Amino acid sequence: MKSHQQYSLEKNNSFAIIATTPIIYFPKDDQELKLLTRVTQGSFYILGEGSNTLFVEDITPVIIKPEFLGISVSETNEYYEVSAACSENWHDLVCFCINKGINGLENLALIPGSVGAAPVQNIGAYGVEIADFIESVTWFDFGKNKSQQLTNAQCQFEYRNSIFKQHLKNKGIITHVTLRFTKNWRAKLNYQGLNRLSESCSAVDIMNTVIGLRNSKLPDPKIIPNAGSFFKNPVVCADQFMLLKDRYPELPFYPQDNGSVKLAAGWLIEKAELKGYQLNGAAVHDKQALVLTNIGSAKGDNIKDLAIYVQKTVFELFEISLQPEVRMIAKHGEVILKEIN
Ligand SMILES: Cc1cc2nc3c(=O)[nH]c(=O)nc-3n(C[C@H](O)[C@H](O)[C@H](O)COP(=O)(O)OP(=O)(O)OC[C@H]3O[C@@H](n4cnc5c(N)ncnc54)[C@H](O)[C@@H]3O)c2cc1C
Repeated sequence: MKSHQQYSLEKNNSFAIIATTPIIYFPKDDQELKLLTRVTQGSFYILGEGSNTLFVEDITPVIIKPEFLGISVSETNEYYEVSAACSENWHDLVCFCINKGINGLENLALIPGSVGAAPVQNIGAYGVEIADFIESVTWFDFGKNKSQQLTNAQCQFEYRNSIFKQHLKNKGIITHVTLRFTKNWRAKLNYQGLNRLSESCSAVDIMNTVIGLRNSKLPDPKIIPNAGSFFKNPVVCADQFMLLKDRYPELPFYPQDNGSVKLAAGWLIEKAELKGYQLNGAAVHDKQALVLTNIGSAKGDNIKDLAIYVQKTVFELFEISLQPEVRMIAKHGEVILKEIN
């Protein structure tokens, strides 16, 4: 199996943080994964394209970066099924499907990263989540040293969450993802920005609109290193929401099925007057407050310190403890920001 010692990860994370791993392994199939049993008993991190990862120390754990490639398509009278290997690029998969007339992923165009990471936080955008299409996930279990199929229900998908971030964290690797698309496709246009398109528009129209909107709103990590939304949108109970709405009538909100209410983390950060705020080479983006950026020579812990400052300032104003969406990785494993309460 391909591997390297003392490997620089600067080009493998969208924050462009300078960090080195003692060793990186590039398994390309199940046979090579089986050789990693001893590695997976210690501290390690699975890396896709690093667009949801912040290395907070100069040294990282051992890295496993799979190099599984390939896409296959099958169909019945009612649906298409597309199976993609984990190291395929997500946006390339979206384009592959749309070019073949397989519609469904258009709202999820241009999300950075790999196919294998997409189910981990149940990627979503413009009113759609990958969970809407997942038929099954092929999971290589490090304990059993073999693969198994997990159904959609077994993946326990929620908003930016799944079993892969919880019970199965660090217990295996997603090697393939199988998606199912009905041939009876309907455009999903209820999200702000897409509702100006007509019901008869094509998936290509939607994809192009999503690409245009994303390019106009989000900083390109190749120019301004970042990892997209740094924090998850918080969900609060109805009582807390009512109190906030009294104080801030303009507060944007999204009622949830269980009576709780989702709020926009970006709005809270902006209201706390943190847009454009800078600290030691790290910054809150001046157009999109939910995005933290490396504006030059920030180290990973400078970005983490800024995140803690944002979390504290937002809490002081709203009594809401923001939680990171980005995974923060130190030498000995993941760092979890404490909830403030
Ligand atoms: C500019 C920008 C915009 C973004 N917009 C969105 C958006 O609209 N919606 C959204 O949901 N996200 C968004 N993100 C976040 C990011 O694109 C997603 O989280 C993406 O899925 C990360 O993919 P990756 O391969 O880079 O993951 P990485 O950062 O490499 O890894 C992320 C997590 O997945 C795990 N992982 C990676 N591969 C595997 C595997 N094969 N098996 C098991 N675990 C694995 C890692 O261990 C880690 O915990 C954005 C990021 C950026 C930089």
